[in-house]
Amino acid sequence: MPDSLSQRLQRMIAHSGPICVSHYMAEANAHYYATRDPLGAAGDFTTAPEISQMFGELIGLCLADVWARAGKPEAAYVELGPGRGTLAADALRAMRAAGLSPDLHLVETSPVLRSAQAERVPEAQWHHDLSTLPVDRPLLVVANEFFDALPARQLIRTARGWHQRLVGHDGSRFVPGAGPAVPEAAIPPHLRAAPEGSVIETSPASLAYLRLLAERLAAQGGMALIVDYGHDRTSAGETLQAVRTHAYADPWIEPGESDLTVHVDFEALAGAARESGVQVLGPVSQGKFLTSLGIDARLAALSQTAPARAEEFRVARDHLVAPGEMGRLFRVLALAAPDWPVPEGLA
Ligand code: SAH
Repeated sequence: MPDSLSQRLQRMIAHSGPICVSHYMAEANAHYYATRDPLGAAGDFTTAPEISQMFGELIGLCLADVWARAGKPEAAYVELGPGRGTLAADALRAMRAAGLSPDLHLVETSPVLRSAQAERVPEAQWHHDLSTLPVDRPLLVVANEFFDALPARQLIRTARGWHQRLVGHDGSRFVPGAGPAVPEAAIPPHLRAAPEGSVIETSPASLAYLRLLAERLAAQGGMALIVDYGHDRTSAGETLQAVRTHAYADPWIEPGESDLTVHVDFEALAGAARESGVQVLGPVSQGKFLTSLGIDARLAALSQTAPARAEEFRVARDHLVAPGEMGRLFRVLALAAPDWPVPEGLA
C-alpha cells in the first residue's frame, strides 16, 4: 500500500518541522478532489447546482442578459471548479435559449471531476488554471463554491502578539499551534486589538486568483459571478471546517479524506478586484440574487410543465433562497469590466 497523505505529512513535519495551515489545506484538498467525486447524496456535500436546475439556469440567464446589453460579442463561458458540470450544463441551456452560444472553458485540477464534467458538457475545453484561457474575447466567468476550497493560512493572537499558525503532529493527530510572529502591519487595523486566542484567516491563493481574473476582465471585457459562503467584512474567527458524509468532521485527522473549507472573505476579494479597475457589485445574499433574477417565475413554469414534481421544485427553491438555509449565508459578488453593463440582481 502506498503511504497515505497523513503519513507523508507526518514524515515531512518530523523531518523539517511544523507546516503552514495553508500548506496543510492545499495538500489535503488536492488529494481529496483528485481521488473522488464528493458531491451529492451519496458523497460528502451538496451544492446549489446539485439541488436544482433553477440555480444554473438563472446564472445562465444573468450572463446572457449582460452579454446582450454589451452588444452580443463573441464570448467564452469560463467556470472555476465546476464539480460535476451540472451548473455549466444548466447555464448553457439557458444561455443558448437566449441566443448566446459561448465556447466552454472549465478550470479544473481533478481528473475524476474532469471526467464527470465531460459527461455533461463534452464540448468543453479544460484548463489547469487561468493562464491558458483565451485572450481574444470577453469572459463570462462563474465560480460556485470554488474560493472556499482554496488554501487559507491562519494567524493567531497570543499574549506576545500575532503569530502565524503552524501544524504539527503529536503522535495521534495533527495539532495547530503558534509559529513565528507576524508584524502588526500585516493585521487589518480594526482587528489588531482582538482578544488573545483570536484567529484571522487569509487566503493569499484566493487573492492571487482573483487578481488574475480581474486583470483578464479589465483587459478583455466580460464579467464574473462569485458565489460562496462567507462574510462581507474581514473579521476574526476560525472558520476552517471539514465535512464528510454530510456531517462536520475533525479537520486535523485524516487530511485528504474530508472536504476542507474556510468562509470566503468577500471584502478582501472585492479589494483585490478593485485594484485592477473592474467594477465590483455586491456582495448580496444568494436569496436576494436568485429572487431578483426570477426564481419564483421559473418555479411556476417548471411546476406547470411537471405538476407531479411541483412540491420537489418548491422545496428546492426554499433550500436555495430561504434565509435559514442557503439564502443568507451564501453571498454573490459580481465583477464587470470597466465598460460593461452590470448584472441584474446586484444593485
Ligand atoms: N462548483 C461546483 C463544485 C464545487 S467543489 C458545484 O457548485 O457543485 C470545488 C471544485 O473546485 C471541485 O470541482 C474541485 O475539484 C475544484 N478545485 C478545487 N481546488 C481547485 C484548484 N486549485 N484549481 C481548480 N479547481 C479546483
